[in-house]
Formats: sequence, structure tokens, C-alpha cells
Amino acid sequence: MKKTKDRGVNRTKIVATLGPACNAEGTLREMLKAGMDVARVNFSHGSAETNFALLAKLRSAAAKEKREVAVMQDLQGAKLRVGRLPDAGLELLDGSTVVLLAGASSAEDGLIPVPYVTLAKEVKRGDAILLSDGLLELVVIAVEGRRILTKVEVGGTLISYRGLTVPNRALAIEGFTDKDKADLILGINNNVDMVALSFVRTAEDVQQLKKRINRLCGDSIEPPQVIVKIEKREAIDNFDSILEEADAVMVARGDLGLETAFERVPVMQKELIAKCLVAGKPVVVATHMLSSMTLKPRPTRAEASDVANAVIDHADALMLSEETAMGRYPVRSVKTMADIIEATEESSLDNLKPERDSKGAPTQLAVAAGAVELARQVKAAAILVTTRSGYSARAVARFRPEIPIMAVTDSVRVQKQLQLSWGAWPIYVEGYTEPDKMVKRALQIIKKDKRISLSGQVVVVSGLKSGRSGWDPTVRVVKV
Ligand code: PGA
Ligand code: MN
Repeated sequence: MKKTKDRGVNRTKIVATLGPACNAEGTLREMLKAGMDVARVNFSHGSAETNFALLAKLRSAAAKEKREVAVMQDLQGAKLRVGRLPDAGLELLDGSTVVLLAGASSAEDGLIPVPYVTLAKEVKRGDAILLSDGLLELVVIAVEGRRILTKVEVGGTLISYRGLTVPNRALAIEGFTDKDKADLILGINNNVDMVALSFVRTAEDVQQLKKRINRLCGDSIEPPQVIVKIEKREAIDNFDSILEEADAVMVARGDLGLETAFERVPVMQKELIAKCLVAGKPVVVATHMLSSMTLKPRPTRAEASDVANAVIDHADALMLSEETAMGRYPVRSVKTMADIIEATEESSLDNLKPERDSKGAPTQLAVAAGAVELARQVKAAAILVTTRSGYSARAVARFRPEIPIMAVTDSVRVQKQLQLSWGAWPIYVEGYTEPDKMVKRALQIIKKDKRISLSGQVVVVSGLKSGRSGWDPTVRVVKV
């Protein structure tokens, strides 16, 4: 899209992972100003206390900056890890033989403990085993009871609790761990807006999590969205049914590149995003986007290209991980990502051809497409959508209009959740009433917002999900 002076919010959104590097309210305020839309709290790291302490700081920072920020709780999921090793770690020499001891939480004498006991039954001679994000590589020579004999293909130092992957073998490891259950309860009590589920394998995994969330939320709490992290081959194989159950998707390239093959990740990224776009569900591209900025103030040109290409692929949001959680330049990383996004959106490369073919698509999508086209023809300054669940705003965003999409909702939760959706500029108004009244109130709020000044006409879309709001879908042109 073209750059407009009115561009007050990111179109392609930014998710930033919180951690020790941004454990100061001042840093968080700067990150918000630089363009952080969603904050991810990663429950693979840090204790629940430190994570929620960070969250409290974030909320205070957001209140001071008068900015909305959504909170994504990322559950660790069933990630296989080695157990406890001697403090100095274990030196694995190229070409040597090393034994993994399944069912052990710690080990001495040069053995590698693996708490997951059935690993010994599931791996076969010739299988590759990757350790520590794939930095170390072993090949299985033989299995004797709980002992897995391997040859070190790529050596190095292994330290305690590092990840373990058996690419291309679907292990029977339990999906939702006791830690996940406990963390989820804490997350809901701490009012998270989204829950990311790691290592999803099937649509059932998603259904079960949703049931659990609904049970925990009851009638009093608006449930967080479920984001499925696509990082296993089974998730790729089952993607269509998983997508039907999910609220949003994360292309978790880090583990996906280990669990499948890194050379296939770029194509999978494009295919997954394309499917999400058709379904009108938000999709986040994650991991290593600006990796080198963990230590350096400027990204590599390859990283800049990666960020730009994800925008051109039409992702809704891009994610920073260790860059903001543990890096030296958390604020600069967000700013750099925002700059690359903006420079790319100024080109026409991110434009989407008007997709008017609504064959087989629900009426709602056809109405949304019509509204976007109408807005283009009357040169509207913005599209205003009234939305209860966020559905209507996402339906309009799906067509990637060039002008701001102001999403008017009476739900604080939905207002937050729309922070993840491309182009959505969420506006909260109290009490869902007739579209006319909501739009009037929203326009009053927008008038006070320094980030935008609307003049001329806007296109108003309401009642797309008529089952929910009770109004028929309408599209109108309104003078402001
Ligand atoms: P993680 O997930 O950062 O929780 O591992 C993202 C990924 O695997 O890419
Ligand atoms: Mn992962």
C-alpha cells in the first residue's frame, strides 16, 4: 500500500517476546512507541512469577503510553529435552560414540540422560537425533534396552535441558503437559488475550485446549484466542483440519526447520500463509527474523529481506524472539522491523489483487469484498467496521484495503485480539447497540485521536455476522 500521512498504526503487526532484556518499564514504553502490537510471554523460559512480573510492567507501560497491547501466553508444550548434565556440560567429539539413557533425569560418566522413557522404543537404527536447536547431530547405531547408542556426526558441548529432536519420526510424547495445564490457569487468571499452543499435531489438540479454556473462563471471562504453532511435520500434514479449529496460526520456523527440513521452510511459509488468508485467520511469521540484532545494532541484509518477504507473503504479523527477550537492542529491533515493514508497504509489492470471486465463500466475505471495492471507488478515507467477535474486521482485512480499517467493538478482549490482525485499528466503545450509534461514538473517539484525521467519506460495514448482532449485513457511505 501507499504510505499515507494518517498511518497511525502498523498494517503488518509486530509481536515482540518479553524477557530479561526488556525487564524495565522504560524499555517497554520505548518498544510500544517503536511499534510493538502484541507482547509474547514465553513459558518455555523463566518462572511463572518472573513472567507475570514482566506482564505487570508491560501493562503499566502501556497505560502510561496510552497504547493498547495484546498479551500472548506461549505454552511450552511437549518439547523433548535432555536431562541434567554436569555443570561444565558434556563434550561430544566428532566421530565418537555416545549413549543416551532413556528414562533418566540426570546421568554421569559421559551418558546423556533423556527423561522421556519411551524414546528407546521409538527410535530405530539410522535415525538422526538433533540436540540443542540442531547444533549437535547424532545418528543411532543400536538400541539396547533403555540405552541408545549413537555416533556423533556433528560434535560440540551439550549442556543441561537442551532440546532434542528426532526429525521425521512422530513420537508418542504427550501433547499437553502438567506444566502447560498449570501455566494456562495462571495465564487466564492474569487475563491473557491469546494462548499459543506449541507442537500442535492434530485438530483434536486444538479442540481439547479450547474446551479447557472455556471451562476455565466460564461465563465471566472472555476466552483468549488459540494460536496454533506449526512446528511439526504432523501439523503440516494435518494443517487444513487444524486451521478450521484454530483462531490464528504461527509459522514457528525455528522448530519447524528442525522437525522437518530447513530447506522446505520458505515454501511451507508461503503455503501456510496463503491458506490462512483464504480462511481469513491471522498468521504470524516467527523466529530468526532479525537474529543478528541479538548482538548487533544493524540487521543483515538477508534478514531485512526476510522481513520484507514475509510482508509480501501477506502475513498478518511478524515476530521477534531472542532479539527483544535477551538481546542487546530490544527497542532498536522493534524499530528496525517497523521500518522494514513500512518501506515494504510503501511499494506495491504487498498489494493484493482485488479478490472478487466469492464463489463458494460465505456471503459475509462477499459483502466485505464489496465494501473494500466501494471504498476504493468513492476514495473513502477509511473503512469503519462494527465487530463483536472480530470476525467482520478480519473479513475486511482479508482483502488488504489501502486505507485504515477502524474496527469498532464493545469488547476489550476483541480490541486486544485485533492487535494481531493485519490493518485492524481497534476502537473500543462501550455497549453494543445499533450500528448507527456505535459508528457515531466511534467517530467521536477517532476525532480525538492525534494519529489520524478523517475527512470526506468513510465506508461503514456492519452486521456481517448477523447471527450474532441481529442486524443484516449493510454497507454504507457516510460523510465525516
Ligand atoms: P519457540 O517457538 O520460540 O517457542 O521455540 C517458535 C519456533 O519454534 O520457531
Ligand atoms: Mn518452537
